[in-house]
Amino acid sequence: KELSSAEIRQMFLDFFASKGHEIVPSKNLIPQDDPTLLWINSGVATLKKYFDGTVVPKNPRITNAQKAIRTNDIENVGKTARHHTLFEMMGNFSIGDYFKAEVIPWAWELLTSPEWYGLDKEKLYVTVYPKDQEAKQIWQKKTDLPDGHIYEVEDNFWDIGEGPSGPDSEIFFDRGPAFQDLPDNDPEMYPGGENERYLEIWNIVFSQFNHLPGLTDNSQYPELPHKNIDTGMGLERVVSVFQNGRTNFDTDLFLPIIHATEALTDGFVYDDSQDSESNTSFKVIADHIRAITFAIGDGALPSNEGRGYVIRRLLRRAVLHGQKLGIKGEFLTKLVPVVGEIMVSYYPEISENATKIQKTIASEEKRFNVTLAGGLALLNDVIADAKKNGQHQISGLDAFKLSDTYGFPLELTQEQAADAGLTVDVDGYRDALQAQRERARAARSSDKSMGVQNAVLTDLKVDSKYVGWSETKVSNAEIV
Ligand code: ATP
Ligand code: MG
Ligand code: MG
Ligand code: MG
Repeated sequence: KELSSAEIRQMFLDFFASKGHEIVPSKNLIPQDDPTLLWINSGVATLKKYFDGTVVPKNPRITNAQKAIRTNDIENVGKTARHHTLFEMMGNFSIGDYFKAEVIPWAWELLTSPEWYGLDKEKLYVTVYPKDQEAKQIWQKKTDLPDGHIYEVEDNFWDIGEGPSGPDSEIFFDRGPAFQDLPDNDPEMYPGGENERYLEIWNIVFSQFNHLPGLTDNSQYPELPHKNIDTGMGLERVVSVFQNGRTNFDTDLFLPIIHATEALTDGFVYDDSQDSESNTSFKVIADHIRAITFAIGDGALPSNEGRGYVIRRLLRRAVLHGQKLGIKGEFLTKLVPVVGEIMVSYYPEISENATKIQKTIASEEKRFNVTLAGGLALLNDVIADAKKNGQHQISGLDAFKLSDTYGFPLELTQEQAADAGLTVDVDGYRDALQAQRERARAARSSDKSMGVQNAVLTDLKVDSKYVGWSETKVSNAEIV
């Protein structure tokens, strides 16, 4: 039976409620009382006060479906089948309460019991840390995971340099040999390898050791007196499994946005059976409009730094992909009600605030279109000059200025130049871009913000894999 995304989310929460967990609603994407984290990027990020012992929860068992933003995955969007900027992470958490012997059989029950998700056992694989034979034995003895479906993977240990740390177990769904050829595939096909056949759906972290200062060998870390469990399951990925989507986008969470976008294009049609440039554009737009809508709905505004810059960056990328599909004029704002409708059962506030969100998006879109128009005027001058001087090429510096100041991607400059019978000095463009990146890098390394983020992470007791990027100012040239 094909479950809807809303049913899949609710079933996760109901399952853990039946195991004594308190259901905590999705929190604001903007971290509260935590100036060091740019966005909530995992379920556990909102529960920091319990994990670091500042607050003792009424109930040590918590479950949630938490909206999260990960900017480190921007480049993956539309290229891999499984990455988004905004996604929902479903999780169950034990604050010094249950541990491996409970969490593993529960995870298995939720995934395979016909009363719950009822997935085919033969398609599930797990990884464990090689020294964590305890977890391996629980998987083997307390579940009916098929023989040969456990892999020991050296990477399965989270450690942020100091403080709580421990092994983890990741769960993968085998989507079958047809997925071996997707572009993101690692030649090493095994669950845990970076590939698209074995889709990582769930990560279970066993926070069991204390990494004391000075220790370098994790077998010497002492055990923590209170052990915690922190898990994260990607809703969009599980929905793609249930709805048999080739990618996360081929689900009820994204297709209505994609279809609404199709109607705005110059006759482009989304094709869910293959990868193509236009399909990538549809996916990027669908992904980014969700992130922009939720971020603005949660009170962030476009600007030149921090969270506002992320919104600006996502919006500009979406607009440029819209241009590739021949969309004219402001369009992102029209997709907001579609996002609202898809999410209405768990996030009614999007529809309630749609008009306000739309206003912000419309003015930002307009602003960027004006900038782009300015770029076009400059480009026309550059082309006219080149012709007057009998040149056949646009200089790399001009192409760079167009991208850096006006958000004109190189390809757009090349297309326009080609229409006038000119080429672009691509090497010169890359040199200028490189020089600019080096300037940005130099500025970044003198900026201590990452150090602060690391120090706080140690307190957080959060998986470093969950929290791992810094945001600094980026030029237009890096946006596109
Ligand atoms: P991947 O290796 O696929 O990038 P990850 O190991 O970085 O995933 P975790 O940090 O373990 O992801 O997060 C827990 C779960 O959240 C993952 O198992 C996955 O289901 C989901 N998830 C993580 N990042 C994303 C993303 N960018 N978009 C959608 N779902 C995600
Ligand atoms: Mg990742
Ligand atoms: Mg992973
Ligand atoms: Mg993981």
